[in-house]
Amino acid sequence: MRLSRFHLATVKEVPADAEIASHRLMLRAGMIRKLAAGIYTWSPLGLRVLRKVEAIVREEMNRAGALEMLMPSIQPRELWEETGRWQKFGGQLLKIKDRKEQEFCFGPTHEEVITDFARHEIKSYKQLPVNFYQIQTKFRDEIRPRFGIMRAREFLMKDAYSFHLTETSLQETYRVMYETYARIFTRLGLEFRAVQADTGAIGGHASHEFQVLAEAGEDVIAFSDASDYAANLEMAEAAPPATPRPAPAATLERVATPAQKTIEDIAAFLKVPATRCVKTLLVRGRDGLVALCLRGDHALNEVKAGKLPELAGEVTLASEEEIRAVTGAGPGFIGPVGLPAEIPVIVDRDAAVLADFVCGGNADGTHYVGANWDRDATIRRIADIRSVVEGDRAPDGRGTLHLARGIEVGHIFQLGSRYAEAMGASVQDETGQQRTLLMGCYGIGVSRIVAAAIEQRHDEAGIVWPEPMAPWQVAVCPINPKGLGEVSAAAESLYQELCARGIETVLDDRGLRPGAMFADLELIGIPHRVVVSERGLAAGTLEYRRRDESQSQALDRETLLARLA
Ligand code: ATP
Ligand code: MG
Ligand code: MG
Ligand code: MG
Repeated sequence: MRLSRFHLATVKEVPADAEIASHRLMLRAGMIRKLAAGIYTWSPLGLRVLRKVEAIVREEMNRAGALEMLMPSIQPRELWEETGRWQKFGGQLLKIKDRKEQEFCFGPTHEEVITDFARHEIKSYKQLPVNFYQIQTKFRDEIRPRFGIMRAREFLMKDAYSFHLTETSLQETYRVMYETYARIFTRLGLEFRAVQADTGAIGGHASHEFQVLAEAGEDVIAFSDASDYAANLEMAEAAPPATPRPAPAATLERVATPAQKTIEDIAAFLKVPATRCVKTLLVRGRDGLVALCLRGDHALNEVKAGKLPELAGEVTLASEEEIRAVTGAGPGFIGPVGLPAEIPVIVDRDAAVLADFVCGGNADGTHYVGANWDRDATIRRIADIRSVVEGDRAPDGRGTLHLARGIEVGHIFQLGSRYAEAMGASVQDETGQQRTLLMGCYGIGVSRIVAAAIEQRHDEAGIVWPEPMAPWQVAVCPINPKGLGEVSAAAESLYQELCARGIETVLDDRGLRPGAMFADLELIGIPHRVVVSERGLAAGTLEYRRRDESQSQALDRETLLARLA
């Protein structure tokens, strides 16, 4: 590609709401442009990267024997009524009507559509097991779309669905998908962990998430330093501590006020990034009071007294009296007294007992704590509330638990018969009997991976792509202020040679000054840069530099070509 013919549109300024590095860098590099909240256009540059990710996902799914297909994104209400999810899925489901007033949704996921396909197409056990997948645009009307394409409303997902006659077969495909996901994220050059996960609105009984480790992640994972144990904090357990954890000091330093209702308000008040804040709500569930900790719109930890009701719709805020009854809070209690429904209280993860109403935020080693109510009584009354903290013992008794932030890029589930039963999808087994299909489902956030990779790999100058995701591998940069024919010719011939060798190369023939040219190429993260200059040519060398190294090297043409091969 010649950059003079490409639409490269880097920018200096980004909007203030671009809070995290990947969002800022994708905007600055001109990879994406916002059309509406959570809805983005992928520019030619952005799309090159997205397609790289997609290709690796597709290759590995094919290798694992999955069959690609394509389902509609618009889905009729009737299908969703069959599984009860038209109501249950909640506000994320974008509902639409056609001119005949028929109702549809824009698919946030495809269990219903694939199960409908399966009940018509799969008649005999001989067709099993089978694993179908697609790579397709999804829409979820997220409460707070943010971080650019990381939490978008419209995004690209790879979703796969497998069908089985037996549990053993389901488990086998689940294992293959687990390994396939590990291969995909390894090939993409990402640092990740597979963790036990909650099954959420999709349902089922076994589930793992693949989390890319990054500070900006919305999830927290707990993992042991001496065993394979790793779980999303939503699910994590710890062995009981040998000695009870000491209570945090109850000195009030700073307290959020009723006016500071949102995470952003509180973050501004504490002068910490919003991504580090946690909000506690005390809510009433079917089975009594429930303390729920949210980070933004995202459940970080669902602690419970009794069973935690499904989040969608069924949770209501507790009344002031109920909260008083449970906490025994007296005057000065930070939170509900005389306040509107939402309680502006945040806790530090390390404060552990999240229903504790410890007020805090963590920045620069400062821990704001504050409370003047009977802490022990509170803990006794909300009996089994406990969450895992750094340094707890792993539940398998092996090692110490550590916490890290992660970005969920993949999620696999053993769904069992839930959807097939609701929708009547069955096959004949060897004996001629009808048996309900068993099902697994496997998602990857293809577009989210692009942002996750940038979170892991960037520096002051911009993106540092892992090679498999880079838009081009090599940039050839002629420095030619005098317009010398020999410099242009050498750059052109090197460019042609690299292309002929199948190396994706971009020639920066825009005629920019070196500073501006290098700034652009570093911002967009091209892994290898070759500078062709009058001085270099006189010495018989080209100046080569890797994006992730600070030194350049003078190499002759043959050595350079060998290096890039
Ligand atoms: P999250 O917890 O981040 O909301 P999820 O658990 O709701 O994700 P799944 O239903 O498991 O998502 O969907 C499969 C994958 O799709 C996720 O692992 C994630 O990578 C991706 N994904 C989900 N929601 C979004 C979104 N709003 N924007 C971009 N990617 C998303
Ligand atoms: Mg979600
Ligand atoms: Mg999730
Ligand atoms: Mg998930």
